[in-house]
Amino acid sequence: MAKQTLEFQAETKRLLDLVVNSIYTNKEIFLRELISNASDALDKLHFESLTNQDILEGNDTYEIYVLPDPESKTITISDNGIGMSQDEVIANIGTIAKSGTKAFLEKIKETSGDATEELIGQFGVGFYSAFIVADKVTLITRRAGEKAASKWESDGAGEFTIEECEKESRGTTITLKLKDAFTGSDGDEKNFTDVNTIERLIKKYSDYIRYPIKMNFEVEKKDDDDKDAEPIKTIEVRTVNSMMPLWTRNKNEITPEEYNEFFKHQFHEWEPPLEIMHSKAEGTLEYTALLCIPKKAAYDLYYSTYEPGLQLYSRHVFIMDKCKDFLPDHLRFVKGLVDSPDLPLNISRELLQQSREMKKIGQTLEKNILKQLSKMLANDRDKYEEFWAEYGKALKIGIYNDIYSVSGVGDKLKDLLIFKTSKDKKFSTLAEYFGRMKADQTKIYYAVGKDEAAIEKLPQMELLRDRDIEVLYMLDPVDEFAVSTLRQYEGKEFQSITREDFELEDDESKAAKEKTEAIAKDNETLLKDVKEALNGKVDDVRLTSRLKSGAVCLATGSFGPSLSMEKVFDAMNNPMFKAIKILELNPNHAIFERLKVLDEHKDSDEFKTFCELLYAQALLIEGVMPDDPAALAGKIAELMSR
Ligand code: ADP
Repeated sequence: MAKQTLEFQAETKRLLDLVVNSIYTNKEIFLRELISNASDALDKLHFESLTNQDILEGNDTYEIYVLPDPESKTITISDNGIGMSQDEVIANIGTIAKSGTKAFLEKIKETSGDATEELIGQFGVGFYSAFIVADKVTLITRRAGEKAASKWESDGAGEFTIEECEKESRGTTITLKLKDAFTGSDGDEKNFTDVNTIERLIKKYSDYIRYPIKMNFEVEKKDDDDKDAEPIKTIEVRTVNSMMPLWTRNKNEITPEEYNEFFKHQFHEWEPPLEIMHSKAEGTLEYTALLCIPKKAAYDLYYSTYEPGLQLYSRHVFIMDKCKDFLPDHLRFVKGLVDSPDLPLNISRELLQQSREMKKIGQTLEKNILKQLSKMLANDRDKYEEFWAEYGKALKIGIYNDIYSVSGVGDKLKDLLIFKTSKDKKFSTLAEYFGRMKADQTKIYYAVGKDEAAIEKLPQMELLRDRDIEVLYMLDPVDEFAVSTLRQYEGKEFQSITREDFELEDDESKAAKEKTEAIAKDNETLLKDVKEALNGKVDDVRLTSRLKSGAVCLATGSFGPSLSMEKVFDAMNNPMFKAIKILELNPNHAIFERLKVLDEHKDSDEFKTFCELLYAQALLIEGVMPDDPAALAGKIAELMSR
């Protein structure tokens, strides 16, 4: 086929542009990315060869070559892995954006500076990182077992060419024509044509790659017979990496730097992980797991583009990426790998994921991870709070998703929950709250709000403060969903302070309630009139003894969604789930007296306006925008000008 010139897909173009213009610090990552791709290609070849020996073409050596060349100002990375057919080259490199690119580009719009670089690192730019250092990239590849080879070339600006060519050995050779800044010509220390620099970088980033990474070294040899002769320069090929997969090594011989580099390399982590878990199991089911909790949640962790899962190896050979079934959804943020010789590999990947062995390993891993988190919570609260800020949501969603408690997620996770509380505005576990409960306190009280200040200003809080009763602050919309699913902790039910059934049980509160009930009885018509005036906006109007200085508040029914839940459902376009709304009036407030007077002309506009303004106030206190703010403002203005 003749040479073709094709355009990069728009998203790829934007990605390339971003990569070239936003990576300032770690320019050398291109090397580990390309070596990583080469290693993946060797893995794929090895895996295919298990069922199809012919694919090896009689050559079962697996290797990667890295050849820096100061003469031509290039660096070449080649592998004799699986290679690519021409269609695969076109699809993989340039024309079809990597999955998640769109979501990634959306996200990146919101960030700037260092954060951009960090996000790019997280996303993993892979092959395109070549253009950080090169102004031209040439890729020649032949798929193992096929005849035709392809040559792909691009300057990264928007187009690439592709044509058929010859290639003797299977696999892929990538040559980067380096930009001047990386050839040492202007004294830059980043000279990627220098053998020693490259050797150092390979040792640093790619030491544990399971295949030999070879380089040519110039050595001078003396002729033993002729001592006076000039030494002869020869080329010696050496393997630069130790080839020992990190996870097979002894835990206490691995330095934190080695672990960190490993996770950066293998899982596109930008920063050292928050937590590393390296475990070996022996016995009937043998496996090694090397897991981490990344310092920052993936940008799309809570979106459908995020693919959770661990890498799977068998006897150090890569089997599959993103094996979903090891870990439950609430631990979707954990990254890492599992290497086990005991997995049944003669079955399909789907069946493998459902195998008894995998399930067992998964269960143990989950237990270990949760144990590790409990330990962190007990011993290093600052670190746990850092963890919580990134991943707390995943645990809370996990509890909510197990709404009928069939999987017992709530039981497993309840002691990992932390909430700020009214005590000292610091995070508390439920156990800590429980430990501080008053002797006669029968419920765990909580309030929902967008921030601490909003909760503290809730009229209902006044009474709780007076009685010195601690309240949990639910500041994340999923919080209330999680505790509603749990229903209780240590036999104490969770109680929202804005639900109709919230009441305190002390004598003073009981007496106040009785008194209020009596007033309500005397004012039945008034309450009915207010409800009518509000014309369906609220489900009921009542008097309450739970307000001190506030005139009104909005309570929700004792069952069904709360107001904040209703907001979440609305945002999800689920307008069917509505809260039962009850307007509660304080009979001890001057407004109540005024209302009584106005009720004598209950059909007057004034009475109606009054009721509507009371309702609007109650909504605003709850952080809910009234339906027609302009009309509301108009009514207030009118009232003020009287
Ligand atoms: P990623 O590796 O994250 O998928 P890349 O942009 O690095 O993204 O590579 C895109 C695809 O190109 C790879 O998934 C792989 O299919 C193919 N590819 C890249 N490098 C090689 C290689 N050396 N040999 C074979 N295929 C390769």
